[in-house]
Amino acid sequence: YTGKTGSELFQERLVKLKVREFQSIPVVTGEGASVYDAICTMFLEDVGTLFVVKDNQELVGIVSRKDLLRASMGKQDLESIPVSIIMTRMPNVTVCSPEDSVLSVANQLISKQIDGLPVVKMDENGRHQVIGRMTKTNITKAFTYMGQEPNE
Ligand code: ADP
Repeated sequence: YTGKTGSELFQERLVKLKVREFQSIPVVTGEGASVYDAICTMFLEDVGTLFVVKDNQELVGIVSRKDLLRASMGKQDLESIPVSIIMTRMPNVTVCSPEDSVLSVANQLISKQIDGLPVVKMDENGRHQVIGRMTKTNITKAFTYMGQEPNE
């Protein structure tokens, strides 16, 4: 008998849940896309955040619903505004890796008040390649997994 309390055992189980097991497919847009293109992609792909990438899938930024709403409030032509001028740009994008714990991502979403993080891996040249997406929905899935009945 280890003498561990129930909440210590729960915490141990929780930190073992890794991003890799709960991440989703990333939805990306090219850095040459317009604000109009980004709105269409976000609507069609049914996501709240787009990752902006170069042709080689290198992460250059992130664009949220509110970024697009803000850009749409003016009277400019949305097809002529590049998404790259309104996005949050690297290195200011918070990222995670597949080996990170779901708990550490949840802590980042809370402390930075954002909805999701790109899951990245480093290529040979030290560039961030986007390989997944970790959002509040994925955290919710991990939460329900932790709450399953033992024999489910
Ligand atoms: P929304 O603005 O649609 O509610 P968020 O709360 O996720 O969505 O985004 C708030 C702001 O933070 C936006 O300006 C967005 O570009 C930025 N942002 C979103 N995700 C990240 C991230 N992973 N790292 C840094 N900034 C982010």
